[in-house]
Amino acid sequence: MDKLLTNNINAAHTIVQKALLQKRFELLEPEAKELIEIFGIPTTRRTVAVSPADAVKAATAIGYPVVLKIVSPDVSHKTDVGGVKVGINSDEGVRVAYEEIIGNVKKRQPDARINGILVEEMAKASTEVIVGGLRDPQFGPAVMFGLGGIFVEVFKDVSFRIAPIEEHEALDMINEVKGAKILKGFRNTEALDISTLAQTIMHVSDMMVSIEEIKEIDLNPVIVYPQGLKSVDARVIIRRL
Ligand code: ADP
Ligand code: MG
Repeated sequence: MDKLLTNNINAAHTIVQKALLQKRFELLEPEAKELIEIFGIPTTRRTVAVSPADAVKAATAIGYPVVLKIVSPDVSHKTDVGGVKVGINSDEGVRVAYEEIIGNVKKRQPDARINGILVEEMAKASTEVIVGGLRDPQFGPAVMFGLGGIFVEVFKDVSFRIAPIEEHEALDMINEVKGAKILKGFRNTEALDISTLAQTIMHVSDMMVSIEEIKEIDLNPVIVYPQGLKSVDARVIIRRL
């Protein structure tokens, strides 16, 4: 294996092992984003802040608008506890959002440990998709693709393949969901970057195959553009081997 790849795999293992040593079986969002970045998946610019002033500094460095999110080992679905604020446009907005998030979490989940607040760039709106990885008890590592929102939740419009996958399989996964037309552009909508999306599914496949401690990956949502994409949320479930 080449040196860069070996270094990357080592860095990935370090993130996973640190969490396992602390008996955490779900990576924090910033850890999960570091991990997907190592495997080449584009994600948001971000910093973890531990005070409102800290968050303002981070927001200024990143550039407005920003998104603030709770970072807690005890919170998995951040929106459910009032832990996400999007579209923040000013220093004052950051200070208010910071305190609101902490207040919401303390009220709705008083026992939750709070590590800080993730301050990140607000990605431009576009079509949202979901890319996932899982371990099937029978078939082993596998990858999943679906369009975001109601397509997955209501229509269960998703595709699966056993990992590792090749590019043509990733493209097939994208093409076989019923909503695929949305990605290809129709009427007034521009065609989206299906090639980078296929690469992203392959990167998730790589992660599942090369890091056996990973049980599950959930990139939801990945926002796909005419050129490029961004995973704005990342959940990684791990296990001890
Ligand atoms: P949850 O833990 O509730 O899934 P997410 O990180 O997915 O939290 O945030 C909830 C929603 O907020 C996302 O589905 C997305 O629509 C929006 N969102 C989150 N982060 C960003 C971002 N950086 N840029 C733009 N939209 C975002
Ligand atoms: Mg999410």
